[in-house]
Amino acid sequence: MTKKWVHSASQLDTFRSCQRKWGYRYLDRISPPPSKAAQLGSSVHAALEHFLVDNKAELRSPLWKIIEPGLKFLPNNLQKDQVEKHFAFIEDEMFFHGFIDFHQYLGDKTWLIGDHKTCSSFDHALSPTSLKENLQANIYARWAFNNLSADKVTLRWIYYQTKSKNQARCVESEIDTQENLDNCRSIFESAKEIESIVKAESESFTLPKSTGSCFKYGRCPYFAMCKNDRRSSIIKPKAPREISLHDPIFSPKESYPIMSSAQNNPSFHLYVDCLPTKCDAAYERTIELSELLKPVFTQIKTEKELSHYRLAGYGQHVGLIATYLSEHLKNTAYDNRTAILSSVKTPEGCDTLQTLIAAAGQVTRGF
Ligand code: SF4
Repeated sequence: MTKKWVHSASQLDTFRSCQRKWGYRYLDRISPPPSKAAQLGSSVHAALEHFLVDNKAELRSPLWKIIEPGLKFLPNNLQKDQVEKHFAFIEDEMFFHGFIDFHQYLGDKTWLIGDHKTCSSFDHALSPTSLKENLQANIYARWAFNNLSADKVTLRWIYYQTKSKNQARCVESEIDTQENLDNCRSIFESAKEIESIVKAESESFTLPKSTGSCFKYGRCPYFAMCKNDRRSSIIKPKAPREISLHDPIFSPKESYPIMSSAQNNPSFHLYVDCLPTKCDAAYERTIELSELLKPVFTQIKTEKELSHYRLAGYGQHVGLIATYLSEHLKNTAYDNRTAILSSVKTPEGCDTLQTLIAAAGQVTRGF
C-alpha cells in the first residue's frame, strides 16, 4: 500500500521560511503557543463564517467593529458548502489540502476564491501582483483548476485591520491555468523536498536554519531549542505522518498514547484531522464535531443569550465552550463504540481540542 505525506499551504510556507522550524513544527509536531493575534484572527474567521452562512450580524460584538468595514467586499448568497471549504487534490502523486474561506462561481468558467486576513496594519498586505504569485493563493487556485474545471480564478484577499482605525482593504488578482502551473512548479519542488526529508527520516535538529526568519514575526517559538541544536524531547510515533492512497482521502494516522488515566478508559475515540479506517474498531456511531457541538451551542444560546460562543468576547470564548462541552460529555457519556471526528484546522476544533483529549479514551491524530 502506497503512503504519502499530506501538504498544506501553511506547512509549505513554513518550510520555505526555515526548514529547521518546519521540522520542529511538522516532524516533531511541537505546536507553537497560540498568539493573541492568531486567536483574534480565529475569532474573526468564526464570526465571518457565521455571518456568511446564516447572514447574522452580532452588532454588539467587539469583533463586529473589525469585520464591518470588510463586508462590502464579501459575496452575497453563499451556501454553507461555499464557506470554510475543505479541499483536497492530488498532483504529481502528492497530496495537498486546505480550507478556503469562501468561493463562488462567477460564470464563464471563472471561480472566485476568497481569504480573510486580519492584520495590525496594511504594511504586510499583498499587492495584486504578489497575490498572483502567492503560495497559498496558487495552491487554492490549483484546486479550482483541478477540481472545478476552472479556466480562470479571481483571487480576493480581504484584509481587516485590527488596530487603530478599523478599516478593510481588498486585494484582487486574476490568474489563469498556465500562470498557476508556472507558479506551482517551485511549490511542488518544495513539496518534493519535504517528502525526501521525511523519507530519509532526518531529525529536525539537523535541518538547515534560516536565521533571517528568527525574528520575522516576533521571536521564533523554537528559538531556545534551535540555538542549542537540541533534539526535541517529544516522542515521535514510529511511522511518519502519512496517508494511504486507498484510505478515505486525507486520513493521516498516528495514534498518540494519551494521559495514563486514559488506559482502559472506555470513553469515546477521538480522531483529529483523520478518519477511522477499516482496520479500526467498527464504531456504532461516528459524530462530526459540528454535530457534537449542536446541543452545546443551543445551551449557550439559551443560557448566555449568545448566538455563537465566539461572540462571548475575545479571550473568554475558549473557557466558555470548554465548560459547556465538558458538561455535555459528562452527561452524555459517549463510550468507545463512538468515534468523534474533529479538526484543528477549524476554529471550533482548536477551541475544543484540550477538552476532547481530556475526555477521550483514545486519540488518533493526523495533522
Ligand atoms: S530560531 Fe530561527 S533558525 Fe531556528 S527554527 Fe526558528 S526561524 Fe529557524
